Amino acid sequence: MPDNNKNWAFALHGGAGAVAGRDYAETERHLRELGAACQQQLQDDAAALDVVAYAVTKLESCGLYVAGRGSAPNSAGYVELDASIMDGRSREAGAVAALRDFVSPVGVARGIMEKTPHVMLAGAGALTFAREHGFAEVTDPANYYRLPVGVTREDVDDIAHGTVGAVALDTSGGLAAATSTGGTFGKLEGRIGDTPLVGPGTWADDNIAISCTGIGEHIIRSGGASSIAFRYKSGVPMENAVQEMLDEIARLGGDAGVIAVSRDGSIVMPYNSEGMKRACATSHSDLVVATFA
Ligand code: ASP
Repeated sequence: MPDNNKNWAFALHGGAGAVAGRDYAETERHLRELGAACQQQLQDDAAALDVVAYAVTKLESCGLYVAGRGSAPNSAGYVELDASIMDGRSREAGAVAALRDFVSPVGVARGIMEKTPHVMLAGAGALTFAREHGFAEVTDPANYYRLPVGVTREDVDDIAHGTVGAVALDTSGGLAAATSTGGTFGKLEGRIGDTPLVGPGTWADDNIAISCTGIGEHIIRSGGASSIAFRYKSGVPMENAVQEMLDEIARLGGDAGVIAVSRDGSIVMPYNSEGMKRACATSHSDLVVATFA
């Protein structure tokens, strides 16, 4: 734990699709390493937006989670990638949906935020944008994508799912959130979940930054991340605001997980699925990594 007066905090998730009894030692090792890098960056006054973009890019490219390299193929057998990112102070946001074969969907989402007047691009237009701006492409998809940790071939028919996400508070008081996914295995072509939707899947404002995971259809219908932010803004404690959204998801028949950080540096990481791969640290508390309770 750093010894100073700085105030920063971050949380990471590797998806709420963790299945009890499976071995997540590899993802926990990875989250520990990545968490240490995020700690150092925030301690060195990096911007929250840069830290969440960095973390999600690393989570995408390692192939251990259902995002980026570990993404779930759709029912037609190919991968469609979704991601979004939001900066709390400026309220700028970028998102990409149903993108094929780019190494970092969150990088493309950030590019859309910074280089276009739009929040979201999808399909053919997203592809053209990503190519024109030189984002790294997956040149050999058959050999690039891999089954992530904790997912078996048999699960693929059983709507296995996962996502990666990051939220951060930096030493200047800035908040940011980012989320990226390959979605759910066997999803229909063109299916888009909560992850690239700024509001349900990802949210950051002056008070709170949030990234969600779980079956996107339930998250979207619960109101998702921005519904937590609006409850929190109206005075509901962060823990309760998140729990109310998870309760709504349970009422709708789903389960999910949330990571959230507030502007005072408090973190919550609840889930009502079997487990959620997760990590967090603050300027005043050590790195914690866990998958189950
Ligand atoms: N929310 C993601 C989706 O529905 C999946 C997940 O978080 O596990 O695409």
